[in-house]
Amino acid sequence: MELDSLYQEVILDHYRNPHHKGLSGEFDVQVKHNNPSCGDEVTLNLSISNGVIKGISWDGVGCSISMASVSMMSDLVIDQQYSRAVEILNQFTSLMQSKGQSKGDEELLEDAVAFAGVSKFPARIKCALLGWMAFKDASSQAME
Ligand code: ZN
Repeated sequence: MELDSLYQEVILDHYRNPHHKGLSGEFDVQVKHNNPSCGDEVTLNLSISNGVIKGISWDGVGCSISMASVSMMSDLVIDQQYSRAVEILNQFTSLMQSKGQSKGDEELLEDAVAFAGVSKFPARIKCALLGWMAFKDASSQAME
């Protein structure tokens, strides 16, 4: 898989130094998601208060794309209103469905636009989406 080298660097940085990794004992909802085709696994703890994403902590094993993606997702949605977090989530999902045609909205996605190139590789899209799907699941449960 060839990604733009700058983007590859951003992804590897998060993989080597993941943000918000290590499960916190304080959470409202815990979910576990996995991606059997690659062997990626993530457990995600989420807390929401008054419609704001107060905290995400996670642990997991998997490829650099899956782990870097959870790390960046956590950075992006913590302290956001739930509605804004969903907007970011939807933007990332549509970027992953773009088959390499979209560069992504950098204002919403910030460093996560680094994953744009991944959308050309169908086998890796689930890796990139794993943490986001875990967040989608946990946050919709928490908002119920
Ligand atoms: Zn993977």
